[in-house]
Amino acid sequence: MKIAIVGCGMAGMSAAFDLVNAGHTVEIFEAAGEPGGLAGGFKEPEWKWSLEKFYHHWFLSDKDMFGLIKELGWEDHVVVKQPKTVMYHDGRFYPFDSIVSAALYPGLGWGLNKIRFGLATLYIRLTSNWKPMEHTTVDAWMRKYAGETAYNTMWLPMLDGKFGEKYARQVNMAWMWARLHSRTTRLATFEGGFQAFADSLAAELQKRGVIIHFNTGVDSIRQGKDGQLTLTAVDGTHTFERCMVTTSPALMARMAPDLPKEYLQGLLDLKSIGAVVMVLAIKHPLSKEGYYWFNLPKSAGFPFLALVEHTNFLPKENYNGDHLLYCGDYLDTDHEYFQLSQEELLQRFIPALQRVNPEFKPDWVRKAWLFRTKYAQPVPLVDHSKNIPDIKTPIPGLFFASMSQVYPWDRGTNFAVEIGRRTARMIMTATQI
Ligand SMILES: Cc1cc2nc3c(=O)[nH]c(=O)nc-3n(C[C@H](O)[C@H](O)[C@H](O)COP(=O)(O)OP(=O)(O)OC[C@H]3O[C@@H](n4cnc5c(N)ncnc54)[C@H](O)[C@@H]3O)c2cc1C
Repeated sequence: MKIAIVGCGMAGMSAAFDLVNAGHTVEIFEAAGEPGGLAGGFKEPEWKWSLEKFYHHWFLSDKDMFGLIKELGWEDHVVVKQPKTVMYHDGRFYPFDSIVSAALYPGLGWGLNKIRFGLATLYIRLTSNWKPMEHTTVDAWMRKYAGETAYNTMWLPMLDGKFGEKYARQVNMAWMWARLHSRTTRLATFEGGFQAFADSLAAELQKRGVIIHFNTGVDSIRQGKDGQLTLTAVDGTHTFERCMVTTSPALMARMAPDLPKEYLQGLLDLKSIGAVVMVLAIKHPLSKEGYYWFNLPKSAGFPFLALVEHTNFLPKENYNGDHLLYCGDYLDTDHEYFQLSQEELLQRFIPALQRVNPEFKPDWVRKAWLFRTKYAQPVPLVDHSKNIPDIKTPIPGLFFASMSQVYPWDRGTNFAVEIGRRTARMIMTATQI
């Protein structure tokens, strides 16, 4: 079969891997100039490794990703570390990378609060029965089982930061289950960075016969009377028997306007938020204690949610001695951070960095980069499973696989691999055209 894939991110490339291995003719259309999508990176000429535009790591529980890596024979290129995670409370940071350290965290209060927090977390770690949890919100479940104190000091600030006031109280409990159930504190990456992984995978696909059209955004996908699917891209039209799209639901709706109204509406009704992330190369470490991941409750008044000191995960020698820091936030796409210039944002962020380390000076910043994406985090509302669009769309031969469909799992490259390979199987078994 002749199959087109729109998007050369992890989902598109994983599907291409299985399809080409099964003997099909595969062409990938990618709007950007390189593979990797949201997990892609950039590199200064003097750096040995690339750096992800948006902070990325793998959890050791990411079995689909490690399964693919094993099939490729690249296990030796996986780098595993156990960096330090901390939580802010009252002007200080406390360890936060185990149930024990979380239980000792003073923000939780003492006595019954801690016991309830511990039991609720333990239950989530042990149960696999997430389905009933999607009928309720994190807000309602956590208040009931973990208690008001734990909810207000731990979970609400996290939800606020991740989903904003608009959605924080509406996110369903299955999403929280998926985050807490299997994630590990040991983290991993690929030698050279995620971009090196994406480049290697793209090169491997090309070696096996996949054609990748970079800088070739697809504008529309339409089905002719003969059942063939015609993609109109910046370089003209291309015709295929099957097509898999891996973009955001909104882009899919724009690209395939002939989809039935109900399916289109389903795509447009899905909620998601964007992300704005600034990367700083600084001359000295921000955290003297070597912290990697700083949890910052929105209520503490930091101008960003995520503070990640990447060079406390991986050595600064990979980056010619630069200390690398991410300051990021998940935001509605009409938030002013999507309009402000890099310099304006930097001026807002600097005082916050001085709160973390009073010695921090603006002239520590050697260079800054700003990355924004409108589709960063799907928002799963109550009973979300009913709203997930089918991978097999009503247009015969047209398939759609995005971050919004990996539910109950939170988005991640592991789940992009899983949905990519699942879609490849569906493409190969679908009989209709
Ligand atoms: C801030 C942030 C932090 C994250 N942290 C982690 C993490 O720590 N670990 C982890 O595993 N995952 C993380 N993720 C999630 C991870 O990046 C995604 O789940 C994964 O990359 C999604 O892959 P995908 O192939 O489904 O989509 P994408 O990577 O979005 O790929 C879609 C591709 O389609 C292309 N495209 C779009 N429109 C068109 C068009 N019209 N024509 C042609 N091509 C088009 C895009 O350029 C893109 O390359 C994070 C994401 C964000 C935003």
